[in-house]
Amino acid sequence: MKVSANFIPTLREVPADAVIVSHRLMFRAGMIRKLANGLFAYLPLGLRSFRKVENIIREEMNAIGSLEIKPTVVVPGEIWKESGRWDTMGEGLLRVKNRLGADFVVSPTAEEAFTSLVRDELSSYRQLPLSLYQINTKYRDEIRPRYGVMRGREFVMKDAYSYHTDDESLDETYQKMGRAYRRIFKRCGLTVIPVKADSGAMGGSGSEEFMVESEVGDNTLLLCKECDYAANVEKAGCKPDFTAPASIEEAKAAAASVPPVEKIDTPQVKTIEELCVFLKTDAKKFIKTLIYKAVNVELDLSGKDGAAPAPGCSKLERKSPSPGAPAVYPIAFFAVAIRGDLDVNEVKLAALLKAGEVTLAADTDVERFTGAPVGFAGPVGLNSIPVIADETVTALSDAVTGALVKDLHYQHAAYGRDFTPWLIADVRTVKAGDRCPVCGGELYEKKGNELGHIFKLGSKYTASMNVSYLDEDGKSRTPTMGCYGIGLDRTLASVIEEHHDDTGIIWPLTIAPYHVIIVPIKYEGAVKTAADDLAAALEKSGVEVLLDDRNERPGVKFNDADLLGIPYRVVVGDKNLSLPQPAVEVKRRSEKENRLVDLSNAAEELAGLVRGELGEMNS
Ligand code: ATP
Ligand code: MG
Repeated sequence: MKVSANFIPTLREVPADAVIVSHRLMFRAGMIRKLANGLFAYLPLGLRSFRKVENIIREEMNAIGSLEIKPTVVVPGEIWKESGRWDTMGEGLLRVKNRLGADFVVSPTAEEAFTSLVRDELSSYRQLPLSLYQINTKYRDEIRPRYGVMRGREFVMKDAYSYHTDDESLDETYQKMGRAYRRIFKRCGLTVIPVKADSGAMGGSGSEEFMVESEVGDNTLLLCKECDYAANVEKAGCKPDFTAPASIEEAKAAAASVPPVEKIDTPQVKTIEELCVFLKTDAKKFIKTLIYKAVNVELDLSGKDGAAPAPGCSKLERKSPSPGAPAVYPIAFFAVAIRGDLDVNEVKLAALLKAGEVTLAADTDVERFTGAPVGFAGPVGLNSIPVIADETVTALSDAVTGALVKDLHYQHAAYGRDFTPWLIADVRTVKAGDRCPVCGGELYEKKGNELGHIFKLGSKYTASMNVSYLDEDGKSRTPTMGCYGIGLDRTLASVIEEHHDDTGIIWPLTIAPYHVIIVPIKYEGAVKTAADDLAAALEKSGVEVLLDDRNERPGVKFNDADLLGIPYRVVVGDKNLSLPQPAVEVKRRSEKENRLVDLSNAAEELAGLVRGELGEMNS
């Protein structure tokens, strides 16, 4: 392919909003152009690399027996109402009406579309397990699209969905997907960190994210210095740095020698830091209490599951967002008590409550439930809403905490003696320096970007959307389900983030838009003939060649070749062609030095190198 016949609008300047390397280089190399915020067009060069990522993903999905289908991108709003997500997805969901006024959704993900399709076709256990995927356009009305195609509004995702008779079969497919993902990223030349991830309202252990390290990553990862433990902070646990009592009796016994709980004046002292100074003690002796508002809480608060009824819950209404969907409390408030030096992890809290979202309550709500302004909440005597205590609180038998009155705190507060939380759980945020939950080694943090996600969903969608099959005994059953996504655009951009230098992209051969770029010093006479012949010979042996036939100065062509990042550059010039053994200059984009290769051997040698390396990367 000749450069003059292509459409590769390279640029020296970059747009002001291109703050990360991949965004800058994709623009400058003429791979993408922006149509509007979060909407990008791929130009020919960008599309070639994009298709290579796509093909790798397709090959690996096919290799594990997942079957490709092509559903529509626009789907009926009806199925989103059935799953309940029409009401819970919020503004990110792009909804459109057709000319008849019927509701439609531009798919941001496709659990509903696949599940509705499977529902119509599934009758017998013999059809399971079933694993289907698509590689298709998604739209999410992201609040803040940024970093080019890393976080766009329209993007392409490979999404797979699997259906099973039991957890064992789901686990088998889940493991296969995990292995396929590792292969996909390896073939793309990417170093990924698989991490344990939050599995949302479904609970359980089945969720893994594939992260790449990135300074602008949206995720905080915790990794162990000693073992291979790695988790998203949303999920990460740590070895306790406290000793919790074995029972409430043991807690009471520990409090026996502690003076009775007592109010102390703390005028104008609200924050933990101010209290530490005021009381000359440290934050580990405080119980910090925060009031949270949770929406769409699926956890039953009525006490039917054997747990105590949650205070105040009798006043809450519980309803299903749609006929098949599970019942939820649309809004509920909770107090969360935690040791003063720690922070509440809102994702863990949401998972505990099986809630759509949790956020800090407004000041007016804090006053309504605690009877005091913000800063004086505490678990002692708080009966208006359920108190959830982080496990750390159970180890405190002589603590300072808010007294539910302005300018007053309690001291000598003891868990078990002075307050009994409704629920005790791990809701704390793990930090660098904490101890690994597996081996006790020190944890450290990295920023990461999520490229893929595999997830055991259980029966969330199959139950709400009424999917069933007949088992061996003719009994009707609900299948269990998994879902598995990879963002193609983000994967491609991440390859550039990992493989570039100051002058441009350095493509791994598997993703490069072309394998070889031929740069004739001056495209005329013997040089032109040699360059054309070499290109033809390479193409004949399956090598993808870009021939820079432009009438530009060599310096300009060299700069562009570096910018485009084609793995092998071959310079054809008069001087080397007139050697006793006519030769060309071959240079790897990743290396500084070039070397002379006999013209007569050049095609064969390069084809061998390309084939060998592709074979190795794809093996
Ligand atoms: P994020 O937390 O980054 O918003 P997510 O957890 O919502 O992502 P999933 O629903 O798990 O994303 O989607 C699967 C994959 O789709 C992600 O791992 C990512 O590669 C890709 N993806 C998601 N949102 C975007 C986006 N706005 N732009 C590009 N790719 C995206
Ligand atoms: Mg995700």
